[in-house]
Amino acid sequence: MTTQPQMDSPRDKWQAVKRGFMGKCPHCGEGKMFRAFLKVAEACPSCGEALHHQRADDAPPYMTIFVVGHIIGAGMLWVEHQNDELPIWIHATVWPILTLVLCLYFLPRIKGALIGLQWALRMHGFGGHASGADANLPAPAASPT
Ligand SMILES: [Zn+2]
Repeated sequence: MTTQPQMDSPRDKWQAVKRGFMGKCPHCGEGKMFRAFLKVAEACPSCGEALHHQRADDAPPYMTIFVVGHIIGAGMLWVEHQNDELPIWIHATVWPILTLVLCLYFLPRIKGALIGLQWALRMHGFGGHASGADANLPAPAASPT
């Protein structure tokens, strides 16, 4: 049995999460993680790190709802506490727009951070080999270059 030392080297979780939050490759921090708003690139255009292993699934929307819900809920209570004579039409206009803007801001960043964490923890094939349920998945199609 042979060992592969490069697969055992620890990966900095917080650095990978920060790079992912910024939409950058968790490995090099240079290449873009996304090829569209929420579409993850097959591989990093800068270092070639395979990014198709990610399995963010439904976690980013759940986390986005959690974060934005707390910001908006606290904001609504604070504004109402500061000025309880504010017309209802202002609440009905500002809070839905702010909710939409915050969701669009946080969703790709939270997805990137989660993928960065998956990469740092070598989940879903990020460790260089498929394991568990990933081993049963078909290999991704090669992208035309
Ligand atoms: Zn990279």
